[in-house]
Amino acid sequence: MKLNRMSAALGALTLALAVGACGSKDDDAASSGSGSKSFAAGSTMEKLNKAQSIKVGTKFDQPGFGQKGLSGKPEGFDVEVAKLIVKELGIPEDKIQYVETPSKIREDAIVNGQADMVVATYTINDKRKERVAFAGPYYEAGQNIMVKKDDTSITGPDSFKDGTKKVCSVTGSTPAEEIKKHVKDVATQVVLFDTYDKCRDALKGGQVNAVTTDNVILLGYISKDQDSFKLAGDNFTKEPYGIGVKKDDTAFRNFINDVLEKSYQDGSWKKAWDDTAGKFGAQLGNAPTVNRY
Ligand code: GLU
Repeated sequence: MKLNRMSAALGALTLALAVGACGSKDDDAASSGSGSKSFAAGSTMEKLNKAQSIKVGTKFDQPGFGQKGLSGKPEGFDVEVAKLIVKELGIPEDKIQYVETPSKIREDAIVNGQADMVVATYTINDKRKERVAFAGPYYEAGQNIMVKKDDTSITGPDSFKDGTKKVCSVTGSTPAEEIKKHVKDVATQVVLFDTYDKCRDALKGGQVNAVTTDNVILLGYISKDQDSFKLAGDNFTKEPYGIGVKKDDTAFRNFINDVLEKSYQDGSWKKAWDDTAGKFGAQLGNAPTVNRY
């Protein structure tokens, strides 16, 4: 009897210690940000969580989406969307390593492992899906044209048909391919750089007559220099933005899609927009339906 009571007391003590230990472990994890989440063994999520670090590919020259400013880190909607995912991986924000991924190198950066994921105004399309996979979409932009504020000669993509005007875009981007269909002579009219800020400078300096890419990227530049630039017409394509990951990593893609869906529900996606690109006159619209292809 005495022994029984003692072992019962010991049992209770052991249980209390175990629960106590658990509680304090969780608290420590939450407060230190070392990540208390658990993921399937061998998954990308587990690997990144264990490493407590992640390489995020984004743009460094696009106001409102990914622009490196005085903080030394890129800022914008893409960066905020990346942070929502990183948080759910149980990795502290200050452990994100940002990698600049201009349009042309995005697939390579994913395939070669220079970036664990790419959030970089990255249009989902079938050609790119041959090499990488996309979670999302998390936004839908559309191609547009930016001209000097006093230009009335360019009103849309067909304004390039007469062969006299030069238009700048970025190598490896969807707008660069699209605009080639509208010009008379690609060799003399289409000027390609590796980043959009070089196109903006060429427009400002008068070397080209227009810049073409997604409306939201152009609106970012216009917001920074309203006296110089304007949009020339309406959007003429659809550019659904996805998050690029390794082609066969369906588990990571599903995980990101889950995070996106949660962010559409709990207001964090809208807040990310309102704090960044939403300030430049572009519309957020309804949350897109993620495509779990
Ligand atoms: N969304 C388009 C693309 O992925 C244009 C913007 C960009 O080049 O990042 O090609």
